[in-house]
Amino acid sequence: MVRPMVTTKHIQPTLVFADEAGNIYDHPDLLMLCRRGHELTLPRPDELMPLPEGSEFFLLPGRGALGFDPESGEVEELDELAVAVFASPAHTLSAFAAYAKRPDAPTLPLFAYGAVGFAEGRFWVCAKKVDQDRRQVFEGIPRERIENGARKLLTDLPGNRLVRHLTGCALTYGCPAAKNLALGRFEAPLPTSRVCNARCVGCISLQPEESGFPSTQNRIAFSPTEKEICEVMLHHQRKEKRPILSFGQGCEGEPLTEAARIGKAVTSFRKAGGRGTVNVNTNASLHAALPGLAEAGVNSIRVTLNSARETPYNIYHRPSGYAFSDVLTSIRTAKGLGLFVSLNLLYFPGLTDCEAEWDALSDLVAETKLDFIQLRNLNLDPELYLGLMKDVDFGPCMGLANFLKRLKKTNPWLGFGYFNPYLDPSQG
Ligand code: SF4
Repeated sequence: MVRPMVTTKHIQPTLVFADEAGNIYDHPDLLMLCRRGHELTLPRPDELMPLPEGSEFFLLPGRGALGFDPESGEVEELDELAVAVFASPAHTLSAFAAYAKRPDAPTLPLFAYGAVGFAEGRFWVCAKKVDQDRRQVFEGIPRERIENGARKLLTDLPGNRLVRHLTGCALTYGCPAAKNLALGRFEAPLPTSRVCNARCVGCISLQPEESGFPSTQNRIAFSPTEKEICEVMLHHQRKEKRPILSFGQGCEGEPLTEAARIGKAVTSFRKAGGRGTVNVNTNASLHAALPGLAEAGVNSIRVTLNSARETPYNIYHRPSGYAFSDVLTSIRTAKGLGLFVSLNLLYFPGLTDCEAEWDALSDLVAETKLDFIQLRNLNLDPELYLGLMKDVDFGPCMGLANFLKRLKKTNPWLGFGYFNPYLDPSQG
């Protein structure tokens, strides 16, 4: 069914809420509210979009739904529970769900909780599609194709533990990166490191008992050999015309702690005629490792950070044995080596898009001439993050659209997206 084109300027979604059993309802009168940082507000017309396919609904335990009564001009709290959405990949949330947290409310697990409302027969979210790439769209791909691809990998590379690990991830956990490897398309994951020199509050592969919420992925339990890594890389680049091969996955620690092993694997890969973009997703803590990786044949790095300012960075990433200045040195070094440098910016509505953050980020982009910013939603209980940042001054908030517009205006070469781009060698 083709839905009639509805321009968002007419839209005022109503509140969506749920009962304890998880049944979702839209309220007849109360309007949808959303949050940016501590600010409770109606959604801006320019930030509403129809709920993207592949998004998931979350019931928020111990949190009452909040709506706006246009008659009285008051905010109303319902007895029923608040609802949020986890937007599908390639979409960045510009506001998160509005709710009233009750005393017995548990900490929310490691997801991002987008604001959602209902109007014109559909759900609307405060988000922006920041990447047209379809690598994490699996609608229309029968599971059988993934199973066949995994089976073929196991047959082609018997005894390769990395293949056994990744085919398990594809078929058991439904990991999108591992599924793409099984399908022989887009970006192949190359988890390698078991340890990390940071202790990010929202680490998805390792959470201390006392954090109160589980990690969403199991950290890899072995270190693949250079041969195992190189075999997977060569296999993938034979399948995909525009292959991307990425170290630093959600199920591992920090890849730069395995720089020597990665360097040897990439050298063998390139020596064997391996094509494609070889990328390292990293916390950029060990800049001394970069020249060796560049020489081996790595083309790009993606640096994860929640902020371009030292204080909020240290509060969230909790570096151990390195400092924020090392991250900046890594970015400068990588640019000096001719690598393509992306930031994996962990975006939190109402803090990331504030003046103080924008200033620091824009200065970093302008000074280093880094190439690209991937706008990932920070997956953490909003109250927990706001609590961590309570003593940090962020200044006024400008909203995602203005944040991007101003960054682009000030740094015209800068690209934005959600995924690691393929670097076409013919484009120099
Ligand atoms: S850098 Fe990655 S692996 Fe290390 S603590 Fe942070 S999220 Fe976890």
